[in-house]
Amino acid sequence: MNNTVLITGASRGIGKSIAIELGKCGYDVYGTATTQEGVYSINGYLETFKINGKGILLNVNDYSAYKNALSIISNPISILVNNAGITRDKILFRMSDNDWDDVLNTNLKSVFKLCKHVSQQMMKQKYGRIINISSVSAFKGQVGHSNYMASKSGLIGLTHGLASELGRYNITVNCIAPGLIETDMTKDLTHAAEDIKKLPISRIGKPEDISNVVKFLANEQSGYITGTTIHVNGGMYMS
Ligand code: NAP
Repeated sequence: MNNTVLITGASRGIGKSIAIELGKCGYDVYGTATTQEGVYSINGYLETFKINGKGILLNVNDYSAYKNALSIISNPISILVNNAGITRDKILFRMSDNDWDDVLNTNLKSVFKLCKHVSQQMMKQKYGRIINISSVSAFKGQVGHSNYMASKSGLIGLTHGLASELGRYNITVNCIAPGLIETDMTKDLTHAAEDIKKLPISRIGKPEDISNVVKFLANEQSGYITGTTIHVNGGMYMS
């Protein structure tokens, strides 16, 4: 089995942890960043952990760049982790059209575009794993997040649709819905400390809490799991 992984947003946070975890399992890891600095950082940690692969400069909203940017990956991609994501938190009346479009495009439309691009390679191989990083925010209402919640809920629906279509090619498509994880995305959240105190597992999540589950879903032996969402949130939301 060819084990080539593409992870969007691998320069830091959860994406970086996924890249290191999968790299340690022996996968060839390609991770994207939006800046050259981010690409250097990815190449640096891949080298530190002696992982085969490379950092790739790619803004996931630049669809015309996909073909060229991904051409440095010599083998067909067998695992795609759609991790890149942003927030532009505002209450509805302060939220601009740009705040809405930026979040929906980065968190949802780019996943549709990248899945379309990469799944063709997976269909030819008759094998694939697509793992989408959604959020507890798709399941739990909060003030000031409506664009983010819409994007992460949309990702769940997209996952259901793609899982239905791609199963016949032996491609599984699943979501992980993280709770509050300690990364740049959450470092300025004012309510974080209060939220954590209320959790059954009363600590903030670590990026490794997510990458461990990615490792599980990426495995060849997880081939009967598709169209599902795994919640990793310390009990913040129970289903
Ligand atoms: P982070 O530390 O802010 O990192 C975000 C990553 O996404 C960076 O690598 C960034 O690349 C990349 N990115 C942003 N815009 C991009 C674009 N247009 N094109 C390509 N890459 C782009 O965030 P994180 O906490 O690790 O979040 C990772 C994923 O988990 C996101 O989808 C997020 O919504 C989800 N999530 C996070 C939490 C949490 O509590 N942290 C909870 C639930 C879900 P650059 O470095 O180049 O900017």
